[in-house]
Amino acid sequence: MILEIIIFFLFVFLFTKIHIKNLLVNESPSSSSRGHCAHWFVRRRTCLDCKTNVSRLKVVQSFNYTFSGLRLSNEAVSFTKRVTTLTSIHVRKKLHLVLDLDHTLIHSVLVSNLSAAEKYLVQEERPCLTRKPSRFGNMLIKTRPFVNEFLREANKLFDMYVYTKGDWIYAQDVVKVLDPNKTYFGDRVITRRESPHKKTLDLVLADERGIVIVDDTLDVWPHHKRNLLQVTRYFYFKNNGIKRESKPSYAERKQDESRSRGSLKNLLKFLKELHSGFFSCGAVQELDSKDVRALINGPFKPNGC
Ligand SMILES: [Zn+2]
Repeated sequence: MILEIIIFFLFVFLFTKIHIKNLLVNESPSSSSRGHCAHWFVRRRTCLDCKTNVSRLKVVQSFNYTFSGLRLSNEAVSFTKRVTTLTSIHVRKKLHLVLDLDHTLIHSVLVSNLSAAEKYLVQEERPCLTRKPSRFGNMLIKTRPFVNEFLREANKLFDMYVYTKGDWIYAQDVVKVLDPNKTYFGDRVITRRESPHKKTLDLVLADERGIVIVDDTLDVWPHHKRNLLQVTRYFYFKNNGIKRESKPSYAERKQDESRSRGSLKNLLKFLKELHSGFFSCGAVQELDSKDVRALINGPFKPNGC
């Protein structure tokens, strides 16, 4: 695992030096002088560069979700964010997309919280409905219509993160349903474990100027509203985790959100336009000063989302 981390950051370093040297001319990673190592990348209290025990050093940010025990200094975070975005933009023509889970991509409920008219679902066999045991009892996970197509297409234009207020075990269960082979998210799943209070792009290893957030809740993003696209909350079950709706749920009516005119279909259309708008400039150098936030001007709710 350590080797993978080193290879990753070595790649980042080499890429920077060779391909975008002119952009980072005054910056260099900590390894430039072993005698004065700045301990940029620390794992389990050991600097990955100089191997020194740095338990007493101020290493500010934990990136446990990428590699267990990995912590980065402020300088390493800034450096990695910048280089990751430059690599994504110049090499793969991709931006970054941060996706919420609950009520954005899925709706889940404990079986014990199903209404009487929804109990039939316990026997239902459908690809969009998954039963999972949880520490609170059996759970049903209902994926939002069009979610598979959405992820497949969005993955061509964006490097994607999941960012949820749910706990780590729950998030892993849900992500396994959406992305069983880790094709879309890899280990880029940020949960309450890393982010117990508000959501923040500080934990996303990419430059904010290249990140789009999709969430049904605005309040959880106090500092990054310009990056934010809001989608209509997806409620499939009566017990929606926020309040019990008075009108019959989709499940009770045996209906669902439209696949062809629903939120995710419209969101994908908007994201494609956004991506196209970002990369539409003629000169490659212009990309270095582009900011996706100028195109979103959020918080913004795209048409039909
Ligand atoms: Zn060091």
